[in-house]
Amino acid sequence: MLPQLKALLLALSLWSILPAAATPISRDDPESTDPGHKGISSASGSAVVVTANPLASEAALAALSDGGSAIDALITAQALLAVVEPQSSGLAGGGFLLHWDAKQRHLSVLDGREVAPERSRPGDLLDAAGNPLPWRQATSQANAIGIPGTMALLWEAHQNHGRLSWAQTLQPAIHLASAGFLPSPRLLRSIRLAQRFGVAHSPAFQALYLPGGQPPAADQPFRNPALARTLRLLARRGGSAFYQGPLAQQILEGVNALQASEPNFRGWSSADLSSYAVIRRTPLCSQQLQHRICTMPPPSSGGLALLQTLALLNQNTDLASSSVDEPQVWRELARAQAWADADRLYWVHDPINGAVPSPALLDPAYIASRARAMQRANGLRPTPGLPPGIDRYPYGRPDRGIEQGTSQITIVDLGGNIASYTSSVETIFGSRHLVGGMVMNNQLTDFAFKPSLGGKPVANRRLPGRRPMSSMAPTLVFRNGEAVLALGSPGGRSIPHLLSRVLLASLVWNEPPARAVALPHLSRRGKALVLESDPPLPWPFPLEQLKSEASLRRQDIGSGTALLQKVDTGWQGAADPRREGTALALP
Ligand code: GLU
Repeated sequence: MLPQLKALLLALSLWSILPAAATPISRDDPESTDPGHKGISSASGSAVVVTANPLASEAALAALSDGGSAIDALITAQALLAVVEPQSSGLAGGGFLLHWDAKQRHLSVLDGREVAPERSRPGDLLDAAGNPLPWRQATSQANAIGIPGTMALLWEAHQNHGRLSWAQTLQPAIHLASAGFLPSPRLLRSIRLAQRFGVAHSPAFQALYLPGGQPPAADQPFRNPALARTLRLLARRGGSAFYQGPLAQQILEGVNALQASEPNFRGWSSADLSSYAVIRRTPLCSQQLQHRICTMPPPSSGGLALLQTLALLNQNTDLASSSVDEPQVWRELARAQAWADADRLYWVHDPINGAVPSPALLDPAYIASRARAMQRANGLRPTPGLPPGIDRYPYGRPDRGIEQGTSQITIVDLGGNIASYTSSVETIFGSRHLVGGMVMNNQLTDFAFKPSLGGKPVANRRLPGRRPMSSMAPTLVFRNGEAVLALGSPGGRSIPHLLSRVLLASLVWNEPPARAVALPHLSRRGKALVLESDPPLPWPFPLEQLKSEASLRRQDIGSGTALLQKVDTGWQGAADPRREGTALALP
């Protein structure tokens, strides 16, 4: 290209980054962000909790000081978030847990992802003409609700690692749901966002969260008596009561009642609930940045993308001598994210129907060849690669990436056991349908809407009994066999972008946790490179220096990282200031 033309294009792309756009709710950012930042919450001590809400962090810390394990504190926090942060996670959603048992020196992975019901069909989110429903419309469909896995995950984790009684872990949530709490600014803002996003299909949502058409008053206790009843029953009968017995029956009837307004919805059977099983998986681990990084394997694609991003970045930059204020490293990070996305969006699916070639996609020779291709690409859009041992493309290629509210809890207890847990109802308030006071997820919009493309099946197609591909990637980092860092974040498809930036800050640039979570984010979205507008900490260089072949856009980026890092005196935790997260510690 002529140098003058190049200079002109660069000037144009820089001009285009000047205005900052408001972020709409999208698949890239299913909850959007909170405007205005508070201070960065961080805490250090012998045991630390980081959750997205101060009330949840307080209750979780109390569980730890009562002698509870990281898992007890996690259950307390999740149940409480279902009450105070229902827009992001709850009992009728799904999630992934990485748990480090310090005594056994064992890392377990629990997959509590939602499952497509037996009567669902690959084209359930297509319209009558066979075209994908608009995403926004799809999120409200009964066909978007997956069989929830959250309660099964918490119950199984408690059976193995609980020290307090199950009923005790749920008490704080029961208390707040029945006695009431002052709704947080973020909850009220999320209710207004949901109102704009669409709630006409859910009278139950309107009755609870929009009485008289308005969000609840900020200065009056907000109660959810139906959720209190549900939680009491779960406290009495155990987590399995979600899947069998009167509560299961209530859920089944609540969901199947949606058939009256949605004739395409074939409904759930009692076996859909009673046969739900948490799956124990092998963590996806790789040596990166002088550490062993372990993360969530498929059906999540987030962990694979995170590891590939770091590996590609390491090939194309001199990371060891890099510093936070070098635009070149940030630019390469964005490119590596885009190349990792091309692979994960093509290859990852629920391994129930055959393994995902994750080891081959992380093979050093393959990474080296991808890094070379990335250098040669000259701005061309990345395409998926063929990893070693595979000589043809078996799947149809989604052309716009995958078709298509989450919360992160990270806890270390006094014994050094660690829980890193990402939990989701998918978009803001999930499907906005409520049963028993619980928000029903819309996680099945994470499947490809079109089951085949170009005459080939799409890897992430919807099939009965399958789990949709996710981007959630709770992660643990080890050095010399010791756990030294734990993190995760909401953020939809941007999750691996957010986590790769945080890990770079922590592990390479030695930024303390509070700065590591608060530094700016960038995220590759289609052809554009999105640069965070108004980050909690300023960009460490003038943005004009961040030359990129992608078009640049400034926008909010809705992360909610919960980070823990080992320090000399114990552990230090930090909560992302972009939400209401709070870090608290025992001395
Ligand atoms: N449904 C998304 C996933 O599993 C998570 C959404 C979010 O992070 O807000 O990847």
